[in-house]
Amino acid sequence: MSSENHSYDYLIIGAGIIGLALALKLKKKRPNALVLIIEKEKDIARHQSGRNSGVLHAGFYYSANSLKARFSVSGLKEMKTFCRENNLPLNECGKLVVAKNEEELKTLHELKARGNKNGAQVELIDIKEAKEIEPRVKSFEKALYSPATATIDPLAVCGAIKERALKLGVALKTATAFIDCRGGNIKTSSGTFSAGTVINCAGLYCDRIARKFGFGLDYAVIPFKGLYLKYTKNKSDIKTNIYPVPDLRNPFLGVHFTKMVDGTIKIGPTAIPVLSRENYRALENLALDEFVQSLVLEGKLFVTNKFNFRSLAFQEIKKFSKKHMISLALELVDALDEKGFTEYSTPGIRATLINKRSLELVKDFVVEGDSKSVHVLNAVSPGFTCSFPFADYIIENYL
Ligand SMILES: Cc1cc2nc3c(=O)[nH]c(=O)nc-3n(C[C@H](O)[C@H](O)[C@H](O)COP(=O)(O)OP(=O)(O)OC[C@H]3O[C@@H](n4cnc5c(N)ncnc54)[C@H](O)[C@@H]3O)c2cc1C
Repeated sequence: MSSENHSYDYLIIGAGIIGLALALKLKKKRPNALVLIIEKEKDIARHQSGRNSGVLHAGFYYSANSLKARFSVSGLKEMKTFCRENNLPLNECGKLVVAKNEEELKTLHELKARGNKNGAQVELIDIKEAKEIEPRVKSFEKALYSPATATIDPLAVCGAIKERALKLGVALKTATAFIDCRGGNIKTSSGTFSAGTVINCAGLYCDRIARKFGFGLDYAVIPFKGLYLKYTKNKSDIKTNIYPVPDLRNPFLGVHFTKMVDGTIKIGPTAIPVLSRENYRALENLALDEFVQSLVLEGKLFVTNKFNFRSLAFQEIKKFSKKHMISLALELVDALDEKGFTEYSTPGIRATLINKRSLELVKDFVVEGDSKSVHVLNAVSPGFTCSFPFADYIIENYL
């Protein structure tokens, strides 16, 4: 089905981890299919996939019937194997989740139960054992230990997937933005393509693109900004990932320590509601239409206080203060030099989906579509971890 590289069986919008993993899996399963990825940026993984914590999550946060639970355990294993096979860095340093009080200890038990149901290896350990893993850690009576949690270099992983996909014959056109669709014809900033099926993996813009195909009508993306602070004093003061007990009503995990793939230490990310989807710094990429849409939606959330949005917003906005963010991290550990946090590292913005009717945050991945177009609508964390099995699922169920 090819005429001068303008006609494809599958046209994937977006070269983040989801679009790339999908292209690789599609080409492996259907070697004769013509697969094209279009990406509006000059290079791959410029947004969420290149701006995240780089943690491979073990799968104990998510309720048992969710897609996140289904894909995390196998996704983590598959991603570790991919890193080993491609000589990509992998830091298998594990993770501790720590409690501040009796109430949070109950949530640790709940997380352990979820982990057991989901097939994730997790243990409740006492403080002495926790301190053997991380001498500085603080917790109330017990801590939850996940030995399988690891960190990777997200850009290196995306780069390796791209290379493997290109070798198999996937076509990639960067600096090519999707603009509109007319039947099977896809108008982009680099010309028009025809496609049997379009797969929308456009991250922060997935809702807008879905709407052009008549899908995702109940949803809108709300951008939440994740800021990180680097601990530059040394690499040795923290030995593992350390997380607080999260508020299970929302999908964010709280300010935590990430032990990066190269051993460096960072804290974050925040989850600050913002008004523009790619507004990483000051006035960069501010878009008026997004600003107005987010203002209206976030205004509604503020007034109705759905999923406790008002206190979430107040708590998160305070984290624009470096001092406050450091103080939250220091609640998880003893005797760490607060002056060691010297600079911000690359921020990310999450494409969190909200149901416009119920005004609830959508927690699980969402896919909608028909034989002509498929839309990945809520590939939020742990989307990176889940990307390979998530791609299999899309192919088996939608393509
Ligand atoms: C701060 C933060 C921390 C996170 N931490 C983790 C973690 O530790 N572990 C984990 O598993 N997950 C984590 N995640 C989640 C993970 O990063 C995402 O689930 C994943 O990257 C989503 O990938 P994606 O391909 O859907 O989106 P993206 O990476 O955003 O890719 C979408 C692509 O579509 C392109 N695009 C958009 N519009 C158009 C258009 N009109 N035409 C052409 N191209 C277009 C964009 O330029 C972009 O490259 C985190 C996310 C954030 C933001």
